[in-house]
Amino acid sequence: MKCKKCGEKAVIRLRAHNISLCKDDFLSFVLNSVQRTIKKYKLFVPGEKILVAVSGGKDSLALFDILQRLGYPVEGFYIDLGIDGFSQRAQEIAGEFLAERKAPLHLYSLREEVRAGVAQIASRLKRSPCSLCGMMRRYIMNRFAWEKGFSTVVTGHNLDDEGATLLGNLINWQVGYLARQSPLLPATHPRLVKKVKPLARLSEREILAYCLFRGIAYHEERCPHSKGATSIKQKEVLNLLEYHSPGSKIRFYQEFLKNQEVFPGLEPHEMRECTVCGFPTTRDMCQFCAILERFRELTPLQGQIEERKD
Ligand code: AMP
Ligand code: ZN
Repeated sequence: MKCKKCGEKAVIRLRAHNISLCKDDFLSFVLNSVQRTIKKYKLFVPGEKILVAVSGGKDSLALFDILQRLGYPVEGFYIDLGIDGFSQRAQEIAGEFLAERKAPLHLYSLREEVRAGVAQIASRLKRSPCSLCGMMRRYIMNRFAWEKGFSTVVTGHNLDDEGATLLGNLINWQVGYLARQSPLLPATHPRLVKKVKPLARLSEREILAYCLFRGIAYHEERCPHSKGATSIKQKEVLNLLEYHSPGSKIRFYQEFLKNQEVFPGLEPHEMRECTVCGFPTTRDMCQFCAILERFRELTPLQGQIEERKD
């Protein structure tokens, strides 16, 4: 197996692209792919402050590494959701990585704000921890970035994540989401920051290989609450198709983006300001504040319970 670029011994075969590459050319392939996504979708504007959401996992650490190498001025942000036996190790790994890269790491702790972790909140409200966690993370990322003057939040969503989301949106015929799914989610309100996904065209396997070749030590553990998540099944389906027909995954996503205008989208909801926090919402109170209010109602002695437990 020879490298398609230089003829040296190849170390990886990319069936989706019908090429084999040596280590150096593979690393360049990844950097070029991200740079192309950034240019094509105009993800960044010169001079803007960029906040990278780092979970300690392979995608967000690879993303940070790549953006730094491409010369973007990036800072990291870790959200501690208070998941016992998981969040602490993830934070340590993210912290060590950012320190090595001499980059600032901003921290947020849900326990500091609410005196409870996401799993406790979910169980008290009888909600699935995963959907609650996703909603809370999105809110916290936006609020933090906006308050600290960042114009963009970057996440490590990869091709497998985006493919699974697309499949889910198609199965449920979510026309509104289909019209909006993109590596670039523009800021549509003065209190919303732009969200971008520069890894959207790189597969999970390509990112994994990138981390291995660069020697990036990432948090390998899966969140204990993610078991059985629908997105895992959707990824398995896409991987089966990819196995039998290499390139299916990237074609599925890329051709969707090219033809996205066939989904007209829904009339935009009228935006209001949350009566508690002031961030945009379609209701009186945003979902985040509503969850916290409900949790506090159901847990009047919350502070004392937490203190006794410690
Ligand atoms: P996930 O939904 O866990 O696949 O995460 C998608 C992306 O969200 C990651 O690549 C990160 O950029 C970001 N992210 C997830 N969890 C956290 C966290 N605890 N703190 C900061 N960013 C996160
Ligand atoms: Zn609110």
